[in-house]
Amino acid sequence: MPSLPQNEPNLPARQALLKQQQERYQFNFEYLAPLAMLDEVPKDENFSGAYLAERLARAADLPVNMLAAKAHSLLDPLDRLEDYDDLFTLLPKPTIANTFQTDEVFAEQRLSGANPMAIRRLDPSNPPSTYLNIKQQLATKGKTLVERNLYYVDYSELSFVQGGTYAKGKKYLPTPFALFSWQSMGYRDHKTSDHGELLPIAIQIQQNNSGRVYTPRDAHLDWLFAKLCVQIADGNHHEMSSHLCRTHFVMEPIAVVTARQLAEDHPLYILLQPHFRFMLANNELGRKQLIQHGGPVDKLLAGTLAESLQIVKNSFESWSLDQFSFPTEVRNRGMDSPDLPHFPYRDDGQLVWDAIHKFVTDYLRLFYADSDALKNDEELQNWVKELRDPQGGRIKGVPEHIQTLEPLIEMVTTIVFTCGPQHCAVNYTQYEYMALASNIPLAAYQDLTGLENGSETKPAITNEAHLMQYLPPYQQAAGQLQIMNILTDYRYDKLGYYDRTFKDAFAGSSFDTAVDAVVEQFKQNLRIVETEIDLDNRKRVIEYPYLKPSLILNSISI
Ligand code: MN
Repeated sequence: MPSLPQNEPNLPARQALLKQQQERYQFNFEYLAPLAMLDEVPKDENFSGAYLAERLARAADLPVNMLAAKAHSLLDPLDRLEDYDDLFTLLPKPTIANTFQTDEVFAEQRLSGANPMAIRRLDPSNPPSTYLNIKQQLATKGKTLVERNLYYVDYSELSFVQGGTYAKGKKYLPTPFALFSWQSMGYRDHKTSDHGELLPIAIQIQQNNSGRVYTPRDAHLDWLFAKLCVQIADGNHHEMSSHLCRTHFVMEPIAVVTARQLAEDHPLYILLQPHFRFMLANNELGRKQLIQHGGPVDKLLAGTLAESLQIVKNSFESWSLDQFSFPTEVRNRGMDSPDLPHFPYRDDGQLVWDAIHKFVTDYLRLFYADSDALKNDEELQNWVKELRDPQGGRIKGVPEHIQTLEPLIEMVTTIVFTCGPQHCAVNYTQYEYMALASNIPLAAYQDLTGLENGSETKPAITNEAHLMQYLPPYQQAAGQLQIMNILTDYRYDKLGYYDRTFKDAFAGSSFDTAVDAVVEQFKQNLRIVETEIDLDNRKRVIEYPYLKPSLILNSISI
């Protein structure tokens, strides 16, 4: 029967089971230090037969050679960006293939693409130095920046990456700064649409005083190249930081501590289980296949494997549970500003966050009638203690003790949101935005420095074949498509829809009908959110379906 430990009729038995769990779930601090990982995956964490059967059936054999067979030989040189489209003989070509070269779609990807986590609002009272440099350089050309409603992405934190190697030489990672402005149409007819658009203003690839400032006024191929450099940096930031680290790997220690410190009958354990389903096994699979020597990260991303993993480690160091609650994270980037009326990730995310927050609140209130119930819950207090512990989860931004319900609701909502919607926003966007190497190339294949000599009047990129020398060869482009397909071609379950184990946990207990009602209301609220998002999507130039509740999973199972 579900109960808090202080109400447990057979406490010694409960504690004995918990002790067993602590034997089975142990930390490994060496594998990806300073991250706390699970040492060995217990058997019952493994993918179910149903999961494996369904997923394998979908992952029909698409070896790289087959993808290319109908296109060209993998060794053929590419001379046109469109050549990448030829890889989509067996799989659907992303719609972005038709529009990615436009400035509007380039900018829109900051707001509704695979990585909506990089863009920030520019605070004129505290401007980044590269911004000042761009402003200065434009001024010397007689161009004055209109300092209103500006946004930027800055990938300088990746500049330690020197680049890995491939069969024919070295790979490179540009780490540019890109400036955008929101161009309003001057009126609004809907909360999320003023029919304006975000547009790129300038890009600096080499972030220093003399680095060339690219603008949309440059020769077409030079400007396209500058935008592709942003895409390369963003693709690396997406996979290593936003996706792998800040969903898969930050949630792993939380699942481990939950298994170690909360008994199976603990209401919080029961609530979190569906949101951790298959994650530990999935992460282990990722460690064995994706981030191994010769694996996709090594082969396709720009850095050496060690450098790419360093991005993960740095990203973990600056992650904390409190600062990465959805509303706080958006606010920390200034992206909650009403001056930006269109930000699909934010607008849809907020609706889903609110529904989860209400659900978590209603659920926890059933079990914690007052603050004494919290203070006397030893398992809960041990849970936060081990989450923070340097010999435990190493999770920052967790309170020392839980005295009131509010901070617990905030924590649990962040965990559920990160396992469900947040992961889906960065995972299922991978096919549309990242399967096509011409939209997001994952590395540069030539040294970029020569391009700094170009100018508005004297282009550095002479023709498309020249541009192609900087972009992924066929083999890498095919590998990229294949892995993006594998990472997005299956959805195990649906947010708020829990399986029998969840229902059975309460069957026959005094909480049965109350929990049922809370879950039912959650599902209804999610359906309302779905309708709202559908309405919003009709007003969007590019649809953003990724945070529709019907497409969100409960857990990081892929
Ligand atoms: Mn994933």
